[in-house]
Amino acid sequence: MKQETKCLHAGYSPKNGEPRALPIYQSTTFKYDSTTHIGKLFDLTAAGHFYSRLSNPTVEAVENKIAALEGGIAAMCTSSGQAASFTALATIMKAGDHFISTATIYGGTVNLFAVTMKRFGIECTFVDADASEEEIQKAFRPNTKAVFGETLANPAVTVCDIEKLAAIAHKNGVPLIIDNTFPTPILCRPIEFGADIVIHSTTKYMDGHALCVGGVIVDSGKFDWTNGKFPEFTEPDESYHGTIYSKAFGPAAFIVKARVQLMRDLGMTPAANSAFLLNLGLETLAVRMPQYSRNGQKAAEFLSKHPKIESISYPGLESDKYHALAKKYLPNGCAGVMSVVIKGGRDGAARFLDAFQLATQCVHVADIRTCALHPATSTHRQLTDEQLVAAGIPQGLVRISIGLENIDDIIADLTQALEKV
Ligand SMILES: *Cc1c(COP(=O)(O)O)cnc(C)c1O
Repeated sequence: MKQETKCLHAGYSPKNGEPRALPIYQSTTFKYDSTTHIGKLFDLTAAGHFYSRLSNPTVEAVENKIAALEGGIAAMCTSSGQAASFTALATIMKAGDHFISTATIYGGTVNLFAVTMKRFGIECTFVDADASEEEIQKAFRPNTKAVFGETLANPAVTVCDIEKLAAIAHKNGVPLIIDNTFPTPILCRPIEFGADIVIHSTTKYMDGHALCVGGVIVDSGKFDWTNGKFPEFTEPDESYHGTIYSKAFGPAAFIVKARVQLMRDLGMTPAANSAFLLNLGLETLAVRMPQYSRNGQKAAEFLSKHPKIESISYPGLESDKYHALAKKYLPNGCAGVMSVVIKGGRDGAARFLDAFQLATQCVHVADIRTCALHPATSTHRQLTDEQLVAAGIPQGLVRISIGLENIDDIIADLTQALEKV
């Protein structure tokens, strides 16, 4: 099946007389006829749902759809994108381990890696994604267990060289984890470029309608966990009667371990109802992504020529530093998110945002409706003017997420708002 078809049909195919639309299995548990069968479920020797913290048929259908879209062998949905990032890493690492991440990633992820995971004894070294292989190699230590990057970074809109990172990770015997939230598998499939694990905040374009916070982890099934660096995959897990994940589950060892250890113990479970809503978003994803990209491209071209705009970052623009990487990794478009620096600093940005008539100010991106946010007075409000400069966030910076309205209406709104600056 092609991507458009998978969006509609992968993950759920009703049998004779069953509901055409994906049902919401609003049930915490599932009925079985024998203690023997339930025993097998707990031993992981039979497949089946028994408690919705671990798995649920509605959620499973969505997992299978996303795995198919990304070209992975299996997926696990989580209650948020943050939970997906944490779980992907914590499945591989324990206290005393180390990993490497590119510095241009989502702010919430930076905090998770630099502060919270450090409290748990897992250390992260941030590297410049544009640095050479030799430079990045210097960050590796004997206890390094993974490399992490973001295809199209939020909010920096930089494009990461996935093949380069995969080569470095694999040379060091560790997996590459890619956050593919902004492109979605419609615009980029990181596994084809060597990523081993792909994660998403499904809250953004996948959901698309600003309805549900959610995340997902996709396993490519390609990484060799038996290379000696990952004993938790090759030695018996006493909390599962001595199960050896690499032996019992082969290429699916990672995603099974993520579910039966961390979903079991931490419980960052998505609700069946949320999975149903996410599925509605996924059904139109292949139609929406090219349109966000067309609107984004036109809006970026308009803004790049506007006299009230000091600078713009959008990799679809030929003048953008990441245009060459975008051509390779995002040949079908760069979605709808861009950042612009408005002339007149903090004041100019505030006038621009306050003048919107169609677009809205929201702490969100990748919505179906055009929205914008001023980091200096919202997400980065606590920073001083000097700290803002150090963080690479000019006072006049505005993150704009172009939606699916008619582009003429979007540009008319941007035009009148810029007149107020
Ligand atoms: C929003 C976002 C996250 C965090 O996801 P939540 O669903 O908000 O927890 C992670 N990565 C990227 C790229 C994001 O945009």
